[in-house]
Amino acid sequence: MYSEFSLIEFIKNCQPTLPKHIEGIGDDCAIIFRGEENQADEQVVTCDTMVENIHFLRAAISPYELGRKAVTTNLSDIAAMGAKPESIILALSIPKGITNDYLEEFIKGVNSWGVPVIGGDTTKSPEHFVITITAMGRVMRNNIKRRSTAQVGDVIYLSGTVGDSAAGLHAILNDLTCQPLVFAHNNPTPHISVALELAPQENVHAMMDVSDGVASDLVHILKASGVGAEIDTAMIPMSGHFKDYCKVNNLNPVELAVTGGEDYVLLFTASDKVMCHCDLYPIGKIVEGAPQINWIGEDIRKSGFTHF
Ligand code: ADP
Ligand code: MG
Repeated sequence: MYSEFSLIEFIKNCQPTLPKHIEGIGDDCAIIFRGEENQADEQVVTCDTMVENIHFLRAAISPYELGRKAVTTNLSDIAAMGAKPESIILALSIPKGITNDYLEEFIKGVNSWGVPVIGGDTTKSPEHFVITITAMGRVMRNNIKRRSTAQVGDVIYLSGTVGDSAAGLHAILNDLTCQPLVFAHNNPTPHISVALELAPQENVHAMMDVSDGVASDLVHILKASGVGAEIDTAMIPMSGHFKDYCKVNNLNPVELAVTGGEDYVLLFTASDKVMCHCDLYPIGKIVEGAPQINWIGEDIRKSGFTHF
């Protein structure tokens, strides 16, 4: 069977020719160019699915949190392009046993980011709850951030700590309690305001969001840009709760932080000084060479999450 990424590659390579004004598969969002000039307001579009028992356990997340998180995964991809979210389309496949109260709480969560639902689809599902969201956003053409524009010499940054979500999932799956980490897993925040601050800065080159873990997500930037990276594992930003949890449960913190995924922070590269009101964490630099990560400090052998 195809791997997740070789299937996407197959879909990309055997489709009809794309119109000139569309940039399709390969980045966090597709881009639909609408105007002629560099100041034009362009549209970006993305789609993400959450499948019960693959992305979430119904007993381990409240319906409100689930609705909110399903939207977050999409808004994070909009932010990754430097764009502002505008609207979402919501498709729900609902199994027996989901109550009206559950659905009402879920929809409150969907609405909690203040982005309007402009359409969708509703079907029955044989067993599992499945949520598919398409999100749309706007960005000025000059401000679009892609995965393909990292330059040798750029510093690589994260816009937040990584690992909390993975540790929260570990706690859920092992019946352990660590409230802040489980909260982080169920309540990620899309880094929209950081993205909107970074987008107009020309020295911010490549950008994406961290959904599968730095170890595999950074490789997407490296492949798209034709460059390599050196990452100093001592610089990977981790929260105090996360480090304590790893210590108590005998987990390798750096390995879990870079392979765990679902942090939804931004990963970007920049030359010169970056202006931002939020904390930014430099973790390494872009170098010439094959599109792979040279880990300095600890050797990381695992990669991030893939479906198959
Ligand atoms: P992200 O983690 O940012 O959501 P993915 O790894 O899911 O990105 O997808 C990588 C790229 O492949 C994106 O451009 C996405 O739109 C595209 N893609 C993923 N699945 C499919 C599919 N089934 N058909 C077409 N394009 C897809
Ligand atoms: Mg993404």
